[in-house]
Formats: sequence, structure tokens, C-alpha cells
Amino acid sequence: MSIFTVPPAASIGAPISDIDTPALLLDLDVFERNLDELQARADAAGMALRPHGKAHKCPAVALAQIARGAVGICCQKVSEAIPFIEAGVRDIHISNEIASPGKARLLAQLARHARMSVCVDDLQQVDWLAAAVQEAGAELTVLVEIDIGHGRCGVADLELMTRIAARIQSLPRLSFGGLQAYHGTVQHVRLPGERQQIIDAANARIRQARARLESEGLPCAVVTGGGTGSADIDFASGVYTELQAGSYAFMDVDYSHNQPSGAGVSSFAHSLFLATRVMSRAAGTHAVLDAGLKSMSLESGLPQVWNAAQARPDVVLACTGVSDEHCTVGRGAEAASTAGTTALSALPALGELVLLVPGHVDPTINLHDSLIGYRNGVVETIWPIAARGLSR
Ligand code: PLP
Ligand code: MN
Repeated sequence: MSIFTVPPAASIGAPISDIDTPALLLDLDVFERNLDELQARADAAGMALRPHGKAHKCPAVALAQIARGAVGICCQKVSEAIPFIEAGVRDIHISNEIASPGKARLLAQLARHARMSVCVDDLQQVDWLAAAVQEAGAELTVLVEIDIGHGRCGVADLELMTRIAARIQSLPRLSFGGLQAYHGTVQHVRLPGERQQIIDAANARIRQARARLESEGLPCAVVTGGGTGSADIDFASGVYTELQAGSYAFMDVDYSHNQPSGAGVSSFAHSLFLATRVMSRAAGTHAVLDAGLKSMSLESGLPQVWNAAQARPDVVLACTGVSDEHCTVGRGAEAASTAGTTALSALPALGELVLLVPGHVDPTINLHDSLIGYRNGVVETIWPIAARGLSR
């Protein structure tokens, strides 16, 4: 045991200005509004909501979603489901394929404690699952994943899809649950008209697949898929029985670039921030924040500096670069054009708290141990990101 103690990043009841950085902050009012809004829209559409646990990896968030009416959650990996089951989540869909008999055995163990379902796109996976549930004495629902244009997992050939579904149905302890049809790239297509076009083509494929299965005596109780970017279109299409959105709870810079589909559609706001502090302004031209790649992911672009007072991206400060443990911020366009403003006075002070909106929420969450929930500037709760790192 170490003789040193790193103090906790935050204490309940303390102002957020006291927190130790870097740390993930959650604006609970905004977060709760995001959850309420998507659930209300799913209810109005008569669709089930099964939020994706890979976005938050946090049992407390899952329980908040389920308390509002979510039917359960998705996980992307089998091990990721474990902390959620331990926290009392009783219905988990693994929205992914498994890669080994060992993974099937772990899943079968979990299926003895919660209602579990999983995707397949190969007869081999069905055999691994059948052997595992037999050995564990468990029951498992299995969905066939079809490729609707994303070009990742999923069968494209309807003949093979039907053979896999029939095989699932024929085996003891496995039941055929229906289809998963997920189009990842369309989630981030910026223009609503373009999103609609791609989804229309994808939905035609889903309808065709479902009709083919029905004609073979294999009805689909569930058609699951969709995400934050496609939610409005999926609510209207009537093709899906359940929606798997994840990012909507928090949002990120990437999703803020999506243009909404029109009036009256979902509008989710930023609730998740990476809290950082200025660790250097020695250069005089920029400030350096104490968080880098080890606290945020960058594959979807740079984070945005958040202006907490105005609840919008800052127009004065912009992030200019990120390295392992540093993030540089400089004056944005507006500050640069303001006559008489010296560079230094536009920069935050040494030690000042600076909030960043992460570029991409899912991999950023996976870098942190806890979510610090606050309301009115005061820390209200600290939630463990218990599934962090559980990628097996
Ligand atoms: N379903 C699957 C299979 C996914 O891979 C993802 C995200 O990548 C989602 C749902 C949730 O998407 P989002 O976070 O964009 O709402
Ligand atoms: Mn994502």
C-alpha cells in the first residue's frame, strides 16, 4: 500500500470551483433534461428506448435511464455488462458479435442473472453460444445483425440471414429475437436531408429482411438499432421497435455539428465537461491546460472551450492543440479582432478552471474513474464509471 494519498477530485457539497483537475463534470439539470426528452419522444412514438451503456459505462446513469422508462440498456462488450448487472440492471443487449467460445461462456454466466441478448452474423457464433448456454443451464436471446450500409458487422445476404435465424430457433436454450440493424456513419451525417436519404435506403433493406424472415415462419419481435443522430428519423419511420441511442445523455463537439431535422425535433444539450485548469501562461500568447490525450479522445476533433456563464462554446478562447498531458488554448477570432485587448488579458489566469466539451464522448468517458454530478455550481453526487476499461 502506498504511503501517499491523492485526495478525491471532488467532495459532495463543495463548489465545483474547488475540484481537482482533470476531472469529468456532469451538469445534472441538463443531463436530466436530455434523458427526459428522448424518453418522452420514444414514448410518443410507441418505441422502446434501450440506451447504449458504452456511452456512459456508469450504472447510476443506466438506472436513471431505466427509472424514466428505458427497457434496459445495450452494452458493446460482454464484460462491460458486469457492473450494470451488479447494480441491478436486468435486461442487457450486447449490440455486437462475440469472437470466441470463452466469451460465449462468460455471456452464458451473465444470462443466469439477467435477461441477455446478443448479435450474431455467422453460424459459428451460434454454435459457440448454444454450447455455452447448454453448459451453464442458461437461456439467451439471439438477434441476427444485418448490414444496412454501414459496412461493419452484419450479414448482407438474406439467404444466410435466414439460415442463421432458423438455426438459432432450432437450438435448445436459444431463441431468435429478431434483427439488429445499425448504421453508424449516418449518425454523423450533418445535413438532415442527407441523413434521411441514407436511412430511407437502409430501412428498405430492413423491411425486406423482416418480410423474408416472416415468410419463413421466423417473425422478428425486435428490430433494434439507431442512435442519437438518427433518432428523429427512426421515431417517424416505424421500422425499429427499439432505439439504441447513447450520446444524447451528454452530447459532444462532434454531435453539435449535426444540423437538426427541423422544428419540434430532439435538441440535446451539452451536459458533460472535462474540467481543466490553467497550468502555464508563460508564453504570453496562449494558456496551457492540465489535460491532454490521457483525459480526452481526439479522433473526432479538438474539444471546445465552454463558456459556462453563457452556456455555449466560447467565442474568445479556442483550443489549438492537444498532446499527452497538455491542451493549449488561444484567443479565438472575436478576441483577436477586439482592439486594445492584449493577448495576455484575454487568457484565463494561472490556476483558473476551464471547462472543455469533449470532441467524442464514448472514448473520453472510458479514460475516467468517475462522473462528478453538480447542480447550481455545487457537487451533488460522484458516480463511479464502473465499466471503464471493460473492453473484453
Ligand atoms: N448502437 C450501436 C451498435 C453503436 O455502435 C452505437 C455507437 O457507436 C450506438 C448504438 C449509439 O450511438 P450514439 O452514441 O451515436 O447515440
Ligand atoms: Mn460515439
